[in-house]
Amino acid sequence: MDDVEKVVAITGASSGIGEATARLLARSGAVVALGARRTQRLEALAAELRDQGGTVSVHRTDVTSRADVDEFIQATAKEFGRLDVLVANAGIARTAPLADLDVEGWDAMIEVNLRGVLHGIAAALPLFRAQGRGHFVTVVSTSGLKIVSNQAVYAGTKNAVRTVLEALRQESTEGVLRTTSISPGYVRTELADHIDDPALREHIQRNMAELAIAPEAVARAIAFAIDQPDDVEIGDLTIRPTRQG
Ligand code: NDP
Repeated sequence: MDDVEKVVAITGASSGIGEATARLLARSGAVVALGARRTQRLEALAAELRDQGGTVSVHRTDVTSRADVDEFIQATAKEFGRLDVLVANAGIARTAPLADLDVEGWDAMIEVNLRGVLHGIAAALPLFRAQGRGHFVTVVSTSGLKIVSNQAVYAGTKNAVRTVLEALRQESTEGVLRTTSISPGYVRTELADHIDDPALREHIQRNMAELAIAPEAVARAIAFAIDQPDDVEIGDLTIRPTRQG
């Protein structure tokens, strides 16, 4: 597979930022492995990208399952001979005030946003070390940078991931591994559609409609980080709407 640019596995590739990233990378010559639970959407995206000459694989992956994520990474490396980048993008936002005690929502965010990324690290780190090369990209959030109400646990999971990636960077200075944390602000995706509280959902959807930027803007930032030479690491990138406070 030396004639292709990179082999990139993307979690949460069935919509939003993951889908836009898969499109951009595939069109620029990367091999993309698509992971998510909604395989019909992955298959539709894969068909579109293959029609345009792309090389794509589809994997039903629930990132809360360590076995699923292991299988995703191992199958991708086996099929394409290596894995260059894991974009650990899958995430959910169950936005609510803490006083609502949506403990189920807290657990779900911890499972997907934090444990899901840790499963990715557990699956890909040994492979990257064996290859002598690899790149972890995570999609965190500006809500971890500017703390706002109703997003405590969501922001907490994103800042936990940021912390893990920085520690991973410090533990990997022998030049094998690159780590990148991408922090988007409001991006026009399906993320807010899953908020339970109708008033909050509408509030965030309104903000999204007024402010949000296209997922392609985040995809470009991810591609920029990936495209750097092996000795250049883009550690943190923030991409937000110009008008976001
Ligand atoms: P979307 O809701 O459009 O996409 C979320 C993706 O995550 C979907 O592909 C979904 O796939 C996947 N996903 C959710 N749960 C799981 C799971 N258990 N296992 C595997 N995949 C899962 O939202 P975005 O594109 O906006 O979200 C992508 C990332 O960007 C998230 O980490 C989010 O926190 C982050 N982000 C988004 C912002 C925004 O304003 N939109 C701002 C800052 C950060 P499926 O349901 O098919 O499994």
